[in-house]
Amino acid sequence: MTDIPEISELRFIAGTVTGRESEADWDEMLARASLLCDMGKDLAIDTVVFPTEDEDWTWTRLRQETGEDEIVVMDREKEKPLTREEQTAAFRCVSDMLSAKSLDASLTGALRDLGQFYNAARTYILKITQDKQAVDMDYEWTCGGKRSIRYAMQGVQMNKMPLIRNCYREGAPVMMESPSITDPAAAGGRWRFVAYPLTQKKEITGFICVENAREHLNDTALLDTVAPYITGEKKRFQNMTAPLVTGAQDALTGLPNLSSYMDVVYSLDSDSYSSMGVLSLDIPNYSVINSSYGFEYGKKMLTFIAETLINVFGNTYIFRTWDAEFVVLFPNTIQEVFKGRCTRLRTMIQRRYPRQVRTANMWAEGIFSARQMVKETQLIMRNEDVKDPASVWEETPEEKPQESAVSHRTFVPYFQPKVDMRNGSLAGAEALVRKIGDDGSIISPGRFIGEMEQDGSIWELDLFMLDSVLRQLREWKQKNYPLIRISINISRVTLFHSSAFASVLAIQSRYPEIPADRIELEITETAGDVEKATLAEIVEKFRQCGIQFELDDFGAGYANISMFSSMNFRTVKLDRSLVNDLPDNEISTMMVENVTQICETFGMQCVAEGVETQQQAEALIEAGCVYGQGFYYAKPLPAREFEKRYFS
Ligand code: C2E
Ligand code: CA
Ligand code: CA
Repeated sequence: MTDIPEISELRFIAGTVTGRESEADWDEMLARASLLCDMGKDLAIDTVVFPTEDEDWTWTRLRQETGEDEIVVMDREKEKPLTREEQTAAFRCVSDMLSAKSLDASLTGALRDLGQFYNAARTYILKITQDKQAVDMDYEWTCGGKRSIRYAMQGVQMNKMPLIRNCYREGAPVMMESPSITDPAAAGGRWRFVAYPLTQKKEITGFICVENAREHLNDTALLDTVAPYITGEKKRFQNMTAPLVTGAQDALTGLPNLSSYMDVVYSLDSDSYSSMGVLSLDIPNYSVINSSYGFEYGKKMLTFIAETLINVFGNTYIFRTWDAEFVVLFPNTIQEVFKGRCTRLRTMIQRRYPRQVRTANMWAEGIFSARQMVKETQLIMRNEDVKDPASVWEETPEEKPQESAVSHRTFVPYFQPKVDMRNGSLAGAEALVRKIGDDGSIISPGRFIGEMEQDGSIWELDLFMLDSVLRQLREWKQKNYPLIRISINISRVTLFHSSAFASVLAIQSRYPEIPADRIELEITETAGDVEKATLAEIVEKFRQCGIQFELDDFGAGYANISMFSSMNFRTVKLDRSLVNDLPDNEISTMMVENVTQICETFGMQCVAEGVETQQQAEALIEAGCVYGQGFYYAKPLPAREFEKRYFS
């Protein structure tokens, strides 16, 4: 398929869910797996996604494995006065709600206040939908850094969740407890989960859920006080916004029109919402279409687009702002969900009207204003060449792979040779990433790796590098160049990522012509600090699939020789700091000699990094280390230059 130019960016995303066959609910497993695929939609490379522990908690313990007898209906002593602490919390909660400028801001704030009072892992509101059969998670707050599970809690059948079902049936708060497997911070080593019913006109319409409270256990007085405000809040804001948006409608599509748009757009900013997705859409040649296919055709087209927008984005701000121009404003959603919907919309419209519609989208959190975002997306959208309608789709921004954080346009691999210092011949290479700035400048990894490790996107980059290196090797093989061994830096974040192993195999399987031993993964000594046993297991798993490891930066930290004995490395790389001290520093010289000796005994290769002078090279050879890498031989080079210098 790679022969077809249009699909050179084809990716393979697999969501993986496993369970015991005798207890398996296939529909549910399929739903979970496809949700995982949805999450992976925007990744730039082949990926296999597994559920995290959080999802497992919600999916399995909350949903299936709980016996009815584990669920306790809680006492509600309505008359019990609030404690001082509860009074303070209730006051804060209610005043935060009343001062919020939107429903989202209000309820998210209330959930945060509740979460902090109970010292909970996560609080959220479930809304009953689908003829009282299912629930959707509407609002969510999570404790520092925990991932959102909102995407996984949409349209979940109530009868699959004993806790929620009981709460619904009893009309009273219910609680359940189970031993915590994964969270050592859980109070008394147990997970607790409280569901509190929200009622409107004596009917239960939803639930407040408190996951894993660590304080004020079994105490629902605060919820009793706050719940009526939470249900009332929806109405308060409905009264405020409903007439605005339904005020001026477009007769054809029933969507709010430009004047409604102007009415609300100024209020949609970061003061009221935590995040915002914006999509702009237009039909650039609408008048031509009308005159050549007739007005009926044009009308049908508009109706189809309006319906598809409503279908995909649901109950949010959708406007027909001009003849053939639409705007979607989608506040408070996670980026994956928004981008996923944009992709779905594009696919649906393209299938029906190929190359006739343009779209552009963007998502922001932090400080933003919807007005500004609409301007920007429209600019991107209109920048496309409209004269040739056939090219419109290819040039739509969201069609391009750079939508993802990591892509060919932003990152490129450089290659630094590893050399046999005895004769200067090429022994292999290390791939080092470079970022391309907007102005075309080359940015060193020191400036962005740390941040990417922090926010977790590093695993995408590492896998992208693996893919790029394999692709490069394939190209070199096709040109009949020697198939050298290339090492790739793998962050510990990536290595411990639940999907790393499967994703590496998935990527590798696309390059069957490249033997597994042409790739080596570099990991640093510190990766073994925390979990040496786990690391050894991971290393072994990869090794069994033919992928070898290199221990990077050895000697920079503790020079922990026990790393060798517990793990199977193919190569050990002496850190620059050791090499720097050569040839004059006796301790460094001794260390190099010792490590080289150990490597030889155990059949590992030893490479010195940061070789900058001839003296260092000589001292290394003298000490028994014959492979080296460093500016003395070459700086990291772009692929073309590497080729020129070493293969031609
Ligand atoms: P590293 O793995 O220790 O890579 C060696 C670094 O030393 C590279 O810096 C290389 O350009 C530099 N170097 C090579 N020879 C010499 C020399 O003779 N003298 C001196 N002073 N420096 C030399 P670079 O490319 O800036 O990379 C910095 C670090 O960023 C790497 O250190 C590695 O930890 C990380 N990195 C680079 N690419 C990736 C990647 O794709 N994934 C991950 N996770 N980390 C990466
Ligand atoms: Ca390295
Ligand atoms: Ca290194």
